[in-house]
Amino acid sequence: MGMLEGKVALITGAATGIGAACARALAREGAQVACTSLPTDPIAEVVASIQAEGGQAIGVPLDVTNATQAAEVVDRIAGELGGIHILLNNAGITDDGLFLRMKPEAWRRVLAVNLDGVFHVTQPVVRHMVKQREGRIINISSVVGLMGNPGQANYAASKAALIGLTKTLARELGGRNILVNAVAPGFIQTPMTDKLSPEQRQALVANLAVPRLGTPEDIAAVVLFLASPAASYVTGEVINVSGGLYM
Ligand code: NAD
Repeated sequence: MGMLEGKVALITGAATGIGAACARALAREGAQVACTSLPTDPIAEVVASIQAEGGQAIGVPLDVTNATQAAEVVDRIAGELGGIHILLNNAGITDDGLFLRMKPEAWRRVLAVNLDGVFHVTQPVVRHMVKQREGRIINISSVVGLMGNPGQANYAASKAALIGLTKTLARELGGRNILVNAVAPGFIQTPMTDKLSPEQRQALVANLAVPRLGTPEDIAAVVLFLASPAASYVTGEVINVSGGLYM
């Protein structure tokens, strides 16, 4: 028996990178996973790879910037799969540029996905979790939300905001048996970091205690812990998974 047997997990941005690795990890432990992502994302591929391993998954298009769609999708998934026990807020984008040159559109675009998107999905999910008297919410933040990063004012602000949200929800919802934590990845090998040049990659690795980029599976292992019975007294935490980039 997997340790998440009988649980339903909803993941945003689940088609690629960290979200896809987390979907596979939760499904391997027996969770039914609702893989949501933009309609243009390869959701069917991640669902097929989970099913090929004998896991249970469905794919549902969801743009987290659309509040109405988010509420509908959450209610539909909870109705069809029998509740939502685990929410992984993973969808996120970057639109980098030095602060003095940053266009308001780049600021708003990043905040709209990384922060507003989390609000749009989490509120309807929490309504279900409160009724169920059980829930785990895991927010994918970033070490740059803790340490800053030149060229990422919008992204760092959105990821720091998630930490404030995580701690506040942990305090509001702990009495309802809903635990809320954040994971702060360092630099992880995904489509998001594929844009880095070999020189940028080398410079990054030089700052790490563990001299390699992380893998999506490094993050999924910690997400799995936070979703599992082993973490039943952990809430309001931010766990850095950064190979020592931030400590
Ligand atoms: P990724 O680009 O593979 O994953 C992000 C996913 O979110 C993509 O599938 C993308 O299409 C989806 N997405 C974008 N806009 C969306 C929207 N409006 N609605 C729904 N889905 C949307 O990159 P990743 O590295 O796997 O990123 C996952 C999370 O991890 C992000 O929140 C990112 O900020 C965070 N993170 C990544 C790193 C890293 O080094 N890769 C480091 C720290 C934090």
